[in-house]
Amino acid sequence: MDTSHQNLQEGGCTCRDVRYRLTSAPMFVHCCHCRWCQRETGTAFALNALIEADRVELLCGHAEVVDTPSNSGKGQKISRCPRCRIALWSNYGGGGDAIRFVRVGTLDDPDRCPPDIHIFTMSKQPWVVLPAGALAVGEYYKSADVWPQASLDRRNAALAKRAAT
Ligand SMILES: [Zn+2]
Ligand SMILES: [Zn+2]
Repeated sequence: MDTSHQNLQEGGCTCRDVRYRLTSAPMFVHCCHCRWCQRETGTAFALNALIEADRVELLCGHAEVVDTPSNSGKGQKISRCPRCRIALWSNYGGGGDAIRFVRVGTLDDPDRCPPDIHIFTMSKQPWVVLPAGALAVGEYYKSADVWPQASLDRRNAALAKRAAT
């Protein structure tokens, strides 16, 4: 595992009504250059830390879940602060509520979650230049090909737990 991901990172929205803590390092971090993420963030890409839902501990406030269309067609649920409407994390159709895509920019120290992979680089804005050697794919990828085994184990456990409930 990448040891640059340290434990107990905290984050929150802009008005500070909602605060949360990650109780472990994320499983994997996506930098997504798709047009949908560009539109939703209003900028060039989205940076998402993938982590089990039960490792996101709410410290105060609550998130309001907004149903939002997604690139896959399966939809996504974006959790936002009810007051300032900042997006904190989302769940996508495939992983359901078991896995959250935490918006890295809402962490107090987002520098600790650099991307493990760049995805949908076919729509990357041309001025965004990836570091040499960065893992990058034109569209999506198979986790089994790329994720460390420990992260795959965690993901499978989270999905199994969800299926059992
Ligand atoms: Zn807020
Ligand atoms: Zn995207």
